[in-house]
This record gives sequence, structure tokens and C-alpha cells, in this order.
Amino acid sequence: MSSAGLDIAAPKKKCQDDRCPFHGSIKVRGRLLTGKAVSTAGKSFVVVEMEYLHMVPKFNRGERRRSRVSAHVPPCIAVKDGASVTIGECRPLSKTISFVVVEAGRGA
Ligand SMILES: [Zn+2]
Repeated sequence: MSSAGLDIAAPKKKCQDDRCPFHGSIKVRGRLLTGKAVSTAGKSFVVVEMEYLHMVPKFNRGERRRSRVSAHVPPCIAVKDGASVTIGECRPLSKTISFVVVEAGRGA
């Protein structure tokens, strides 16, 4: 079992998914993001929302912005709605998915 080149322990469960960073052939490279799972209705993916502060120099204030990214979920990782998840950038898996979930926290 590999750690997928990350400082993250592989999940205890194993899976047969080729699109798994731990048991498959997906390589995680590029960005590593942490956000909140806002939609787990998809069969093999989740929507992860990230919130960040964008500074507006004219008013010297920050405004809250958010962005959403879809990420593939391998069967060995369970993601609950509202949980904090860590996703890693990988090759494009579909038109809108180029991230995989590498770690999932507990539900909110
Ligand atoms: Zn797996």
C-alpha cells in the first residue's frame, strides 16, 4: 500500500478503484486543498466548497468569497455531508473533475 506520495496515511479499507490515489494508479500532484463537503449526493464524487478572504484595497476590507470544486471519491474513503475533506489535484478524470479526495474528516 502506498501513501500516494503524501503525508497522509492510506485508509484502512482497501478498494479496487483504479482512480484511487492509494490503491489505484492516480497520481496526486499540484494543489492540495481543504474544504467542506457540501454535496455527497453524487455516486463517486463530492462537491467541496472552500471559503477565502479577498481583500479590496479601495475599502481596505476583506470580502468573503467561496469556490466549489468537484472531487472523485474512491470507495475506500467515506465522506459525510458537511465533513471537512482534503483533496489533491490529479489528472482530469472527467470534464469537471480533476481532484481526488485523499482524506475525509468527520461529519459536521
Ligand atoms: Zn482505495
